[in-house]
Formats: sequence, C-alpha cells, structure tokens
Amino acid sequence: MRIAVFGGTFNPPHLGHMAAAEACIRALSLDRLILMPTRLPPHKELPAGSAAPEQRLEMCRIAASQIPRCEASDLELRREGPSYTADTAEALAAMFPDDQLWMVIGTDMLLTFDRWREPERILRHCRLAVVARDENDRARIGEKAAFLRETLGARIDVVENAALPVSSTQVREDPALTMVHPAVAEYIRANGLYPPTLETLREAVRSRVSEKRFRHTLGCEKLAAEMADRYGADEYTVRAAAILHDCTKALDEKEQLTLAKKWNIIFDYSPEDAGALLHADTGAETARREFHMPKAVCDAIRTHTVGGPGELTAEQKILYVADLCEETRSYDGVEELRAAARTDLEEAFTLALRRTAEFVRRQGRTPYYVTEEQLKKQTERAEKEEEAMAELTPRELMEEIVRIADGKKAKDIVVMKVDDQTTLTDYFVIMTGTSTTHIRALGDEIEEQLKKRLEILPHHREGVTSSWVLVDYTSVVVNIFQQEARELYALERLWSDGKRIDITNLTKED
Ligand code: ATP
Repeated sequence: MRIAVFGGTFNPPHLGHMAAAEACIRALSLDRLILMPTRLPPHKELPAGSAAPEQRLEMCRIAASQIPRCEASDLELRREGPSYTADTAEALAAMFPDDQLWMVIGTDMLLTFDRWREPERILRHCRLAVVARDENDRARIGEKAAFLRETLGARIDVVENAALPVSSTQVREDPALTMVHPAVAEYIRANGLYPPTLETLREAVRSRVSEKRFRHTLGCEKLAAEMADRYGADEYTVRAAAILHDCTKALDEKEQLTLAKKWNIIFDYSPEDAGALLHADTGAETARREFHMPKAVCDAIRTHTVGGPGELTAEQKILYVADLCEETRSYDGVEELRAAARTDLEEAFTLALRRTAEFVRRQGRTPYYVTEEQLKKQTERAEKEEEAMAELTPRELMEEIVRIADGKKAKDIVVMKVDDQTTLTDYFVIMTGTSTTHIRALGDEIEEQLKKRLEILPHHREGVTSSWVLVDYTSVVVNIFQQEARELYALERLWSDGKRIDITNLTKED
C-alpha cells in the first residue's frame, strides 16, 4: 500500500491542509493519507487559548471524513513527551513493514528539515512529499529539495498542488472562520474554541454602528466589566456581550425581520415592539454565527432588551443593567440605577426592569410580558428575602455561615461581634482560603447555600482584591482571605475591641 502521514499541530486543521492532503492523495496515488496531530510540537509553543490535543484530533477526524482515503490518527498524542518525527517514522515503519511510506510537509517544514532531530532516521523509513504553501515557494522548494537529496540522500516528491496560502494562526484570528471546512467551523463554534480577541470584536462592531452607538457600546463594556469584577461574573463573557449587544441595531425593521426569517428566529413580540426588541435576537444569532461566541455571550445578548425569560445568570443581569445606565446614558433616574449597579446587582436588576416597564407605559404601550413576569419575580424574591432576614437573627445567620464555610474547608474561622463598635454590622466572620480559587469557591458556596436554603441574598459581594473576597449580608459581613492578605489587612487586630465569639461547637473537629 501507498501510505502518507501528514503531521502537524492542526490548531485547527484548515482548508490549506485539506487541499494539500487531497493533492498528495491524487499526485502520489495514495491508498491512505493519515492526518496526525502532534502532542507537543518540538519547534513551537502552543499559543494561549489553543485547542486541547483531543480537540485537535477530533477536528482532524472531521476534516479527514470530508476527503476520500483520508483518516486521522492519535499515534503521536498517545506518546508521552515531545513528538519527534523520527520516532513517529520508526513506529510507522514497524507498523507498515511492507508498505511505501511518505511524510507530507509544507514549504516551511522543508526549509528547516535538516535542523530537525535526526533527519537521517526519518529519511531511512520515509520519502518526503512536499506541498507548496504559496505559489511563490516553488523556487525555494526546488533548491532545498536538491540540497537535501545531495547532502542527506533524501527521497523527495514535490507535489504539484494548487497552493492555498493560509495558516492556522490566521484562522484563529478570523472570527468568521472562513478558511476552515464548515464541519470544522461547526465544531469550533460548538466548543467555544479560539474566541476572538475583544479588540477584534470592537473593530467589527465599530464598522457596523453609528459613532454615538459605538460610544454607548464602549460605555456599556466598561461598566459591565466593572460589575463583573464586583459580582464575581466572567469578564470575557460580559465584555464580549456588551461589545456585541447592539451589533445589528443599525438594521431597520424590515432588515431585522428578513434576518429573523432567514435564521428561523421564533419570536412573539407585537408588531409595534418588534422594531425595538428584535435586534437582541438577531444580535445573539450574529454573535453565534459570525463571531462564534459561546452560549453564555449569546444568551446575554438575547436577553438584553427584555430581561428574560427564566432565571438569568449574573452575566445576563449585568448586561441588562449596564446597557441602561452606562456613562453615556442620561435620563431622570439614571443616577439611582448607576448607584445600585455598583452596590447590589439584584436591586439594580429589579430597578432596571421597573424602569423599562414604566418607560414603555409612558409611551402608551404595554410592556412585553417577559419583562413584566421577570419584574414580578424579582419583586417577590426581594420581599421574601426581607421576610427571611427578619425571621433570622444576626447570630443565627452568622452560625449558618460558619457551618457552610467549615464544610467547604475554610481555615482559621474567627467571628468578632462588633455591634458596640459600629452601626454598620453585627458580626465579622473572617476566614482563610488556600488559593484565589478556594476563596472564590467559599464565597460562592456561602451565597448559593443561603440563597437555596434560606432565600437570603447578600447585600453586595466584591472581590476587594484577588486575595480578599467580601460578602456583605448587612448584619453579618464575611471576609475571605488568602493567608498573606489576612495578615496584611489584619482585620482581627483592627477590630480587637470587638468580642471574639467561641464557635468551636459549630465547626467539625479536624
Ligand atoms: P500555525 O499558523 O499555527 O503555525 P500552520 O498553518 O503552519 O499553523 P501546522 O499544523 O503547523 O499549520 O502545519 C502542519 C503541516 O501542514 C506543516 O507541514 C505545514 O507546512 C503544512 N501546511 C500548513 N499550512 C499549509 C498550507 N496552507 N498549504 C500547504 N501546507 C500547509
């Protein structure tokens, strides 16, 4: 059999790789061409945000399935340590002792071939099949091939391919994914691989909206990022969603409807609302299709006009609020919303929903039912929370928090009663977490448990620094530190006039 192995990083495999593979199969009358993603390429570091090895393999499988006689192999991925082609060549020769073997390489690889590890060992087992990456490469390929034949006795076949000058680097930077096969693009989108940089998104949106709207977009991004930091939400998600939230807003109603029809967007807005609301749906779909944004980003864009349906994530609420009170917005009441945005996400979200409903009513229209339902839910929740708070004494709340923190392995929990020293709170609960992830997880656990079991939400939460998370339940303020930060800020010393509470009965013995 005539078998060729086409090795590479394939991060991701693109149309250039596929065209080269097809050209080799044809020109060399191959029975099999095997795409073989490398584990750790000896000559390059994988850039941040690269696909995982298994994902590169899966993309090779998808690409191979589009080409007759092409397949993908995990041979190099299964091997520990860096992938040296010489080892692969030897392994292949052992696997296919009676077959004719080729290694497929592009121009760049041919030009450095003599600097690879043990090129002679590769050449002992394989012929080289060289494909041009650019039509201008032909002369250099000819020269280098002659040199390698002469110096290393290389057996080289220069393949007459129609060069397609594209690189994986370019693909990773192209949000539209034009240079990969649609099936590979689908996989990239579905797995949220190679998210475009925020600058790429800003530039794309700048060309689609008016200058004024672009200023609003940037204002929205700025406030959303600030809120993400304060409320522990994902920064990339809120920034990307803020940048893209109005990306189709410049389209008129007819164009919006055409897009909605083309993309099968189902909506039940009244005809008079569609013009104002539909850009959230077409924007979310544009984010998914053109910018391969992950679901969390698309969801935030989709809910940014109506605030629902269903339970929204922190990222969705942040975009909804930031859109209404970022720094370029100016209307009666904006200051109140802005202040709430910086102190209490739930309160700000409720206020923003109420403001929207009132605004629509003042225009003589009826608010969209999803907005009304969400507002009702938020209001009921706030009332319940107040009731729950009223039923629970500060001491019971503090004890509950200590139990949750202890269960999540918080270290050195200390409780200070400070109601004689300040009117701000009754108790400080101070604890140590082992890492930034641990302190965040402790904050999350306390919040989630209290919300789930007692329907109590914090008044506000903030990552004061990356090593200090503060969750404020008004009568109890929780401070979660990493050890160094705990020593640095020394809250226990600062509040040493307070009364230290014995909590040994609340914590498990180690
Ligand atoms: P990156 O941009 O991340 O460096 P790349 O596009 O060069 O990636 P690799 O996976 O490193 O892709 O390349 C694997 C093999 O495919 C190499 O031998 C390379 O020369 C060859 N190759 C890459 N792009 C093309 C192309 N457009 N045409 C022909 N061969 C190509």
